[in-house]
Formats: sequence, C-alpha cells, structure tokens
Amino acid sequence: MSLLSVIVPCYNEEENVAPFYEELLKNESYFKENDIEVEILYIDDGSRDKTVAEVRKLHEKDGRVRLISFSRNFGKEAAMYAGLENSRGDYVVMMDADLQDPPALLPEMFAGIKEGYDSVATRRVDRKGEPPIRSFFARRFYSLMKKISKTEMMDGARDYRLMTRQMVDAILSMQEYNRFTKGIFGWVGFRTKWLEFENVERLRGETKWNFWKLLMYSFDGIMAFSTAPLLISSLMGVFFCVVAFAMIIFIIVRKIIFGDPVSGWPSMVCIILMTSGIQFFCTGILGQYLAKTYMEVKRRPIYLVREEL
Ligand code: UDP
Ligand code: MG
Repeated sequence: MSLLSVIVPCYNEEENVAPFYEELLKNESYFKENDIEVEILYIDDGSRDKTVAEVRKLHEKDGRVRLISFSRNFGKEAAMYAGLENSRGDYVVMMDADLQDPPALLPEMFAGIKEGYDSVATRRVDRKGEPPIRSFFARRFYSLMKKISKTEMMDGARDYRLMTRQMVDAILSMQEYNRFTKGIFGWVGFRTKWLEFENVERLRGETKWNFWKLLMYSFDGIMAFSTAPLLISSLMGVFFCVVAFAMIIFIIVRKIIFGDPVSGWPSMVCIILMTSGIQFFCTGILGQYLAKTYMEVKRRPIYLVREEL
C-alpha cells in the first residue's frame, strides 16, 4: 500500500469543493487496482465564502478528506507550502480546485513515476479562453526568464505535478518566505517527465488573478530567481558614464572651434532629467531586492492555521 496526498488550495471555491472531490474519485478503481490509498488535503486560504463548511461536509462523509484553514488569505504559494508540509503521502500531487487540472491525468502521471521519474509535471499547450494580452505577457515572461535565470521554467507549466516524497522533502527544505513555486520546482532538479494537455476552462466561479496581480507575481518570480536586474542597472551606469565622457569631449572641442558655451541648454535639461530618472530606476531595483531581503530576514511564518480537520 502506498499513500497519495492530493493538495488542493482553495480560495473562495465553495462551488468547486464537492465537484472536485467527485471528479477525483472517478479514479477510485485505478487507486484500488494499484494499491494506492488517498488523502485529500483541502487548504482553505482564508476564504470568505462557505468553502470551509463544504469541506467539513465532505470530511464527515469521508475520513480521507482533511482540511487546513488559514487565519487569513496568505496566497496560493503559502497554501501549496502548507499542503506539502502537512502531507503524509509517499506521493504528493497538487491540483487547483477549479478542475483546470484534470484528475483524469493521474493514471498517466503514475505511469511516469513507475518509469522511474521523480516527478511528473503538466503543461498546457494552448491558452484557450484566456485574454490574448495575458497570454502575450505570459509568453514574454517565460522567454525573459530563460535568458536571465539559470533555473529552468517551462512555458505553460502548471502547478499540477505528481512528486515522490524525496522531491517533496527537497522542496520543503527551501524555507524562503518569497516563494515562487514554478522556480522552486526547477531549482530542486530531479528527473521530471512532462505531460501536455489542452487548456480546460475553470468549472465555476472567477479566477483570483487579475492582470495586475499576475504582473506583480512575475516580478516576484524574476527577483526570486535572478539577479539580472541588478546587473542591468550596473551596466546602465557604465553606459551613461561612457556617453557623458564622449559628450564632454564633444563640448570642449565645439567650444574651442565655435566658442559658444551657452547654446544647447534644452538638451542639457533633457539629459539631466533622463539620467536622474535612470538613477531613480536603478535605486528602485536595488530597493526591491532590499525589501525582499528585509522580508526574508524577519523569518515570519509562511502561513498561520486557524482550524484543522
Ligand atoms: N488560490 C489560493 N489562494 C489565492 C488565490 C488562488 O489558494 O490567493 C487557489 C484557487 O482557489 C485555485 C488555485 O489557487 O484553486 C488557482 O487559482 P485560479 O483558478 O484563480 O487561477 P488561474 O487558474 O486563473 O491561474
Ligand atoms: Mg483556475
């Protein structure tokens, strides 16, 4: 017998809790045949709707359903971490509550583990049903990450992933506060098999991510797994010094030949504005890293539990 922990982060998913449970247990015969026991770990990320009540109903009916409820909304990253930390399974899989990660793929994922892989991850090959502008920026993000970070991140990768206990423990050993799971998966390494599937639209309810939140999340990702922005600001400094030096020489030569030192002040104002802008920009980048470091050294807990079943 082996135990599979299914981690389901939920934030205001009252309508999806029960349908998810039913959909997952469509694999029941597969689990039985392969001697797999399951525990379903719903992580309630401070929902303000009836998510907790829905999970409690399931828990009373089926003891395999567990609940960890946060004291407030800590974000999906925290929910995933809590799930991993509280999972007891030999295998762990993470799935969204909205059924965008089809549980029907589980047998195929297990087949990958049997082939000897440490984890089987999924990626969607299209972004059907997503606003085009979002897809565009998502693509830009992944191609940028490829260039500026050594950590591998797959375009279209979902957090839907089956892992062995060994890999889960490796992920848990990364205790950072600013978590970016897509990067953490790549960072820990191990042998990963990729399954592809076509995008499924959310069952019910609304996505929790708007464009702005995603943009901020992508900045977090860049800062957590790359220091390239710092390098870029240093290079910009060097570039502007070189330009300034060339201009000094130009102005001296012009003064000697034409003898008019006053003309050209509008261009001077523009240059001053631009360089001071760039200075602010670079200080800002530095400040962002400092802020992340500040949050990191505080060593605050990643999540707080209010209730557990
Ligand atoms: N989620 C969460 N905390 C949050 C936001 C989202 O636990 O602060 C959960 C949400 O309930 C869902 C999953 O993360 O199970 C993915 O969220 P969503 O479907 O809104 O994202 P999308 O699929 O649109 O990227
Ligand atoms: Mg979703």
